[in-house]
Amino acid sequence: MKQIIVASNNIDKVNEIRAAFSGRPYAVIGMKELKIDLKAEETGSTFVENAMIKAEALFQLVGGYVLADDSGLCVEALGGAPGIYSSRFFGENSSYEDKFKELSRLLRHIPLPERTAHFTCAMVLLRDDAEPIIAEEHFEGVLLNAKFGIGGFGYDPVFYVPEFGKTSAELTAEEKLSVSHRGKAIRAVLSALS
Ligand code: IMP
Repeated sequence: MKQIIVASNNIDKVNEIRAAFSGRPYAVIGMKELKIDLKAEETGSTFVENAMIKAEALFQLVGGYVLADDSGLCVEALGGAPGIYSSRFFGENSSYEDKFKELSRLLRHIPLPERTAHFTCAMVLLRDDAEPIIAEEHFEGVLLNAKFGIGGFGYDPVFYVPEFGKTSAELTAEEKLSVSHRGKAIRAVLSALS
């Protein structure tokens, strides 16, 4: 079985990626599991550039097969913000509670139907025996003022998914993967792999 090392310290992200690879001949391993302490500066101006920066930094260290994801929430009424700055939005060390409050404040004059947003996920797979694989996918929803659900991570509790009538934190892991930016990006990578 081939190892794919994921260039992320976010255990929730690694778990989502591992679940999407299940049943395939790849063992998905996070950097934390390998005790790799690497923090690549996300200096790119797009999701793909940042995913490439993370993938290249880890690839230089371990070679083999390396997968990196850069993702974020893009709010239409905010011109696509926080976008690539989603994890740093409202301060590097702010809690998601603080981020939700700040989003709510920024959107206070926007009626619910116009609070459309999407998650973007760019995924880069670097490998020592073939060309890189690059994918970028989206997940459409609407931002709520209140939190619902305890699943997922990050902005999931305030991200309402119309086709399910729930937030993405209320979806099961399988449901989220079936429609999410990350699930779609992983499936694109998988189909290019095989
Ligand atoms: P990065 O890709 O590690 O730079 O950070 C992405 C950030 O975007 C996360 O820390 C979350 O704030 C947000 N994000 C990305 N994907 C998701 C998701 O599936 N659910 C909720 N928030 C997400």
